[in-house]
Amino acid sequence: MYIKALVLDNFKSFGRKTKIPFYEDFTVVTGPNGSGKSNIIDAVLFALGLARTRGIRAEKLTDLIYNPGHEDGSASGGPREATVEVILDNADGALTRSQVVNAAGSEDVGDVDEIRIRRRVKETEDNYYSYYYLNDRSVNLSDIQDLLAQAGVTPEGYNVVMQGDVTEIINMTPHARREIIDEIAGVAEFDAKKEDAFEE
Ligand code: ATP
Ligand code: MG
Repeated sequence: MYIKALVLDNFKSFGRKTKIPFYEDFTVVTGPNGSGKSNIIDAVLFALGLARTRGIRAEKLTDLIYNPGHEDGSASGGPREATVEVILDNADGALTRSQVVNAAGSEDVGDVDEIRIRRRVKETEDNYYSYYYLNDRSVNLSDIQDLLAQAGVTPEGYNVVMQGDVTEIINMTPHARREIIDEIAGVAEFDAKKEDAFEE
């Protein structure tokens, strides 16, 4: 399974609906400073609900909505809503139809060769709302997290290596580094369960 494409709409510097294709093995994004490369990574973190754990670069969720006056800090008059869709290629069957149906809480998920996870944030006068969709079915973040975990994508895991992570790993104590390896190998999950069992 891999990310096939990303669709950004009104997200950060992407004021127009933009579809970005990704290749299966290796994709590089290049461009001048400030052109929006890191915003693309932020979009993935936002849509997959990994934002809190993997350091998305925004103080508030609503800062992620495209704001034409972003540079000078002026308020925008446009629609205060941003959407990101991550399109995963599941042609290898990493996730089964029943896993997807289960997570979506509906049989009506279309062709699961393609898994589309969409998140929308909407700002109103005094509040904001966040919505998640799985193949167009409205779901909760936990439904998405549980589904992705079955394909080995977890917020704690190092599926995303952020700027500074490598330096941090180098500077860690051997014990802390070992914990990361446990996390990636999927052993840490059992350590946590073991600790819970001892507490009981
Ligand atoms: P670098 O090479 O310096 O790392 P980059 O390509 O990673 O640059 P980003 O950090 O992705 O650049 O993009 C920064 C740009 O995004 C800035 O110009 C900033 O004004 C713009 N930006 C961030 N948030 C918003 C927003 N909510 N609305 C409009 N523009 C935004
Ligand atoms: Mg950057």
